[in-house]
This record gives sequence, C-alpha cells and structure tokens, in this order.
Amino acid sequence: MFGNIHELKTFCEDRKIQLIDFKVVDLAGRWHHLTIPVERFSEKTLENGIGFDGSSYGFLTVEKSDMVFIPDITSAFVDPFAEIPALTMIGDIYTLGEQRERFAGDPRYVAEKAEKYLLELGIADRNLLGPEFEFYILDHISFKNTPNHMEVFLDSHQAEWNGEKKDEKNLGYKVMHHKGYHADIPYDASFHLRNKMVRALEDNGIPVKYHHSENGGPGQVEIEVSFGPLKEMADRTMKLKYIVKNMALAHGKTVTFMPKPFFGEAGSGMHVHIQLFKDGKPIFFDDKGYSGLSDTALYAIGGVLKHSPALMAFTNPSTNSYKRLVPGYEAPVSICFATANRSSVIRIPGYATSPEAKRFEFRPSDATSNPYLAYAALMMAVIDGIQKRIDPREEGFGPYDVNMYALSEEEKKKIRELPHSLEEAANALEEDHEFLLAGGVFSEGLIGDQLRKIRKEAEQVRIVPHPLEYKMYYDL
Ligand code: GLN
Ligand code: MG
Ligand code: MG
Ligand code: MG
Repeated sequence: MFGNIHELKTFCEDRKIQLIDFKVVDLAGRWHHLTIPVERFSEKTLENGIGFDGSSYGFLTVEKSDMVFIPDITSAFVDPFAEIPALTMIGDIYTLGEQRERFAGDPRYVAEKAEKYLLELGIADRNLLGPEFEFYILDHISFKNTPNHMEVFLDSHQAEWNGEKKDEKNLGYKVMHHKGYHADIPYDASFHLRNKMVRALEDNGIPVKYHHSENGGPGQVEIEVSFGPLKEMADRTMKLKYIVKNMALAHGKTVTFMPKPFFGEAGSGMHVHIQLFKDGKPIFFDDKGYSGLSDTALYAIGGVLKHSPALMAFTNPSTNSYKRLVPGYEAPVSICFATANRSSVIRIPGYATSPEAKRFEFRPSDATSNPYLAYAALMMAVIDGIQKRIDPREEGFGPYDVNMYALSEEEKKKIRELPHSLEEAANALEEDHEFLLAGGVFSEGLIGDQLRKIRKEAEQVRIVPHPLEYKMYYDL
C-alpha cells in the first residue's frame, strides 16, 4: 500500500488514523497483535522494530526467545473493525544474536524464500496460487467440561435437526442435509452476511472470485478468491480469516474453519490451485499432453503426490484434519491425480481449458494450516518434482478418471492412501523433508518445531477418552 514512511504518514493525517496495529503470525498460523498510538510511529519503529517473546509464538529452536518484529509498510491496510481509525501492518520476525537477522523460522520469510528459490532455479518467474475457503457459519458454540471429556455444542441449525433445540426463528426454509451446494435464498441463510464479508475483502485488497452456500448444511459456505502469488496469497489468507471471523462476530455469529466440525456432514477444505508462468507464458499447458497439461505440470504433480504424506504435516496439521479425509464427502483419500475427479489428491479442473487457465488443484489442505508454510511446502514439492522429473504415471499415481470410492478392493489396494492421522503425517515429514530444506527455504529448526507441535497435539487428543468409547465399551 505504501512505498515509504512519508506516504504512510501523510495517509494517516489525511485519514485521521489514530492507532497503528501490528500483526505477527505464529507457528500455528494465528495472528498476534500489538498496538501503538500513531504519535509513537516513526522511522525508529521501522529501524529498531518492536521486541517480543518468540517462545510464546511456538518458535522454540532459537536459543534466546527475545525477538523483534519489523513492520512491513507495504502490507498496511485500514482495519475495518477498529472503532477508532487504525492502520494495520504485518511484521517480519528477526532474531537478536551478534547481529540482527531475519529469523529462519518466520513463516512469512519461508514463503518469501520459496518464491525466490523458484525464480533462482529459472523454473518460473511468476506463480499464482488460488485457495478456496470452505467454512461453517454458526450461531453459537459452547464448551462444557465434564469430568471425563469436553462436550462441545455447536449450536447452529444442526442442533435443531438433531431435535436438541428449537428457537424462535422461522425454520420453514431450511437447507436439507447435503443439499446446501449453491442453495439460493431464502435457504441460503448467510447470504447477506457473506455479501458484507466479500465487500470487506474487496475493499481491503483481497479480490474475490465468488462466494456461495456449500454442501454441508445448514451452515457451510465457501469463498473463492482471485489467484495471487505465494507470499501475497498467504498474507491475504490471514487477512481473509480475520475479516470473515470479525464480520461474523459483528453479526452475532461465529465462523469455524475446523476441517470436520460435524460427523456425517461435509468437512471444510482449503483446496489450492497452482499455476506457473515464464516469460509471460503459462508453463503448465500443452494441448497434446494428458488433460492439456505440459510435462512440467505433470512433473510438478509427480512431486506433490510423491511428497504428499510429508506435506500433510504442514497442509493438514491438526488432529481434526484427518476426520475430514474420509470417503464420501468429496474430500481426497487417495494419492493420485485425475481430471475432474474430486476424490483424488490432485484434480485437473475440466472446465479450465485455455492455456492461461491451465492448472491443477491440490485438494487435501485445510485452513487449520499456517498458510505461509502450507503454500511454501506445496511449492517446494512442485519444484522438487520439476527438477527431478518425477513422472506421476511412472510412479503409479494414475491418472484415475473413475470414482475412487467405487473401485474394487483389488484395484484400491494399488492406490496409496493419505496418512490417516496427524501422527502418521508427522512420521512422514520426519522421514521425508530434504525437499523442503533445498535452497535453505525451510530449516531443520522449523521442521523440528512443527514436529514437536503436532506430535504434542496428537498426544493430547490420544489420551482423552473418546465419547464413542463409552458406547462401545462402557457395558463390557
Ligand atoms: N468440502 C469438500 C472437501 O472437504 C469439497 C467439496 C467441493 O468443493 N466440491 O474438500
Ligand atoms: Mg470451490
Ligand atoms: Mg467447495
Ligand atoms: Mg475445489
């Protein structure tokens, strides 16, 4: 938004900005923030940065947890939710050793390095990512701690279907189970709220492709954004979640990006479309290739499929992620590629036929991921595939242009499955992460932090008695 601090200062005066807010992303992909009066913001802020305790952000590998962040003025935007006019900008993280240097594990830096590596190798000079955001808009959520487990009440219309709750609302027009896809008003209950969300996104530098009611219902929706380059798209992903959640709250609702909030309903994914260009030309297109894909695109697919179990530790880093990746809900389960097949890890959209639109879609990822790390990891798998010319056909990854869920047992055996749990994904990452270290993009320290984090979470969930266990074992 701003090229230098003078432009920024002038803007603040013109717009009567009174506060400057800084956002810094942690390992999990949550924004933390810190705010100063506009009077305190100066060249010094950009030179010295602002100190903070990095260990509280999940970055444990640095010897001293004292860190600073330096605001990136090019990322500034006016906070649509601040009651007093505030300008927000994202911070880059630095370590304070002998000399100050960028922190190797800063997710934003990792995203930057991945883009630079792609360019340095001469593979592409432009990349575009297109994430799709599925989420549930709910009325209310409450947690109740019982001695043995925590009960969660997701109090959307879901509860009413289960006969648990009746409220005063007119329930005549209600989306039926699994009938929410592109539902029109009056069934599309969050249409007006989504319009406000989407206008706020547009006004804050996040061009939107479209938004609609999604299959899982009632309550599931989707926003697809226009494609953008990796790091920029990760910034936009953070901002989108911020805007969507705060807009929901302002209207008495809550939003969850949890991959599988309801058993028996569609989960929420964050599919990511990928495109590469060189010298102004799309390098994923070849009209003679399979599904209009060039060899480069096929190698990229080969890299992603080969590394997909390890990738999951970044693209699907929650215990809940694996409850979504089950047959029957258009979520991927099999490590393969196909045209227009929604049950495969990689789908080549059948409707994207022009050279400029040619792309593939990575379907496993979900929005519990840190977008900087998820997108960077994905790009590193793309790069590895292209460099090593990993042909997905020779690796036995398809193409499978059939419904994977309906294959015979014999055929199913041939197809490898995605990890079934976070532990499995962690093990896969431990065994296979050379491709992430290439070019110094990911560091051993960061991979160690991620492994520690996800293994700890898996362990926390593993030791809690599951509600179903009472049903199965209580009377034995
Ligand atoms: N919700 C599905 C998933 O979990 C995707 C459904 C769709 O967009 N076709 O990935
Ligand atoms: Mg979509
Ligand atoms: Mg969808
Ligand atoms: Mg999709």
